[in-house]
Formats: sequence, structure tokens, C-alpha cells
Amino acid sequence: MVAGRFSVALLIGPPGAGKGTQARYVGEALGIRHVASGDLLREHRQRDTPIGLTARAYMDQGDLVPDELVVQMVIERLARPDAARGVVLDGFPRTVCQARALDVALAERGGRVTAALFLDVPTDVLVERLSGRRVCIGCHSTFHVVLQQLPFDSTCPHCGDRLVQRADDVPSVVTRRVAVYQQQTAPVLDHYRVRGVLRRADASSSVELTRARVLEQLGLRESPELCSEPTERNPGHCVSR
Ligand code: AMP
Repeated sequence: MVAGRFSVALLIGPPGAGKGTQARYVGEALGIRHVASGDLLREHRQRDTPIGLTARAYMDQGDLVPDELVVQMVIERLARPDAARGVVLDGFPRTVCQARALDVALAERGGRVTAALFLDVPTDVLVERLSGRRVCIGCHSTFHVVLQQLPFDSTCPHCGDRLVQRADDVPSVVTRRVAVYQQQTAPVLDHYRVRGVLRRADASSSVELTRARVLEQLGLRESPELCSEPTERNPGHCVSR
């Protein structure tokens, strides 16, 4: 799927669609870096950089950070050596303006978006998913307190660090983020549809089943037919080809 000098795969979807989790899998499958604009912004906030200080108010209200700021931040990230073979972008572009800026920046280095994968989840599933989400402050892995039956004071099952709820995962902000997605990000799908690189995967069921669908849509190794049906106790299991 990654061809040419510098190719980028995108994961697009509403908040709570599982972009971060699936982008990690895609990055591993392709052997390229996963770059999340939300993680970059949170790092800026932690370091109190000018970008972080400006972004804070937008993020806490569930609004998009201004295009100029995010575009500059992501384009700079793409110029780093660990992105030389391409990247999987998660959460960027989120507006048509960002999508156009990305096209221009990639064209300047002989690259392009090779696939834009839309993770499709009905709105009612999103609020439930996000309000139970916890994020590890150490390794940024995400978990769901109900689906993964985490104890009240659980630490990260991967690295043992603290699990926290993101300020923008509280219900009122989640509702705002979903509305912002529908107004500003959904039109980005058309940008890639007309360029013939849009793919769609149903992301409403288990992480494993979604992973299989995503990898299949990108021409990678797993297929949903090779997965066991997910149940409440068993979230689904896939067999590699
Ligand atoms: P995420 O972690 O992708 O859910 O992003 C968290 C928040 O960061 C979003 O609600 C926005 O406020 C901001 N953000 C992340 N990516 C972008 C982007 N591409 N454009 C504008 N704001 C963004």
C-alpha cells in the first residue's frame, strides 16, 4: 500500500471511533510511524509551549485548534527522520483546509496520501465509548473501564503508569466534539473520495474485528472472515494469514 517516495495513510473518524488504536496496528503492519495530532498537541500542552498554551482552551471545550497552528505542527513532525518512510496520520486532517495543506506539503516532497480510511461508528455508540475511556499517562495506551473490566484504581496493564480520564472525554464535551466532527471533519471524506483513495471500515464492534476490517481495506494481512465472532467475554480473535 505504501508506494512512492513519501506516502501517508490516514485514519478519519468521529471521536471514539478508535482511530488511535487502529492507527497503531496499521503503523505496525506497515512498519512506519503512527503520528497523532491530538498526542502532539497534548505534548505541547504538557511542555507549556506557545502552541500548547493556545491549544488548551480549544481542546478543553471540544473545539478544533486553528488550522494554521495544527498544519504547521504536523508538517514539521513529518520532516523528522523517523517519518522518512511515511507515516500513519491519526486525527489529521480534520478540516478541508488541513487536507488541502497536507496535499501541498506532500506534493512538495514527491509524496501523497495513498489511503484515507474512514472508521464508521454510529453516534450513539461514541458517547458510551468515550465516557468510559481511560488513557495511560506513560505509554498513551487507551482502555475502557467497563469493556475491559478494570478495577476502580487500576494502573496501566502495559506499563504500570497511572490511568486518567481526558478532560475532553466528559459527556458535555464529548457531545460538542461529535457535533464539531459532523460539521467540520465529515466533509474531508469527500476530499479523498473524489481522489479515489477513500476506504471505509465498520468500526462499531470489537477492536479485533475492526482491526481485521481495517487491514483488509488497506490490502494488508487480516480478513474479518478469519475472526471468531466477538462475544461479551471474548472480544474476538483473529488469525493471521
Ligand atoms: P484527539 O486526541 O484526536 O481526539 O484530539 C483531541 C483534541 O485536539 C481535539 O478535540 C481538538 O481540540 C484537537 N485536535 C487534534 N487534532 C486536531 C486537528 N487536526 N485540527 C484541529 N484540532 C485538533
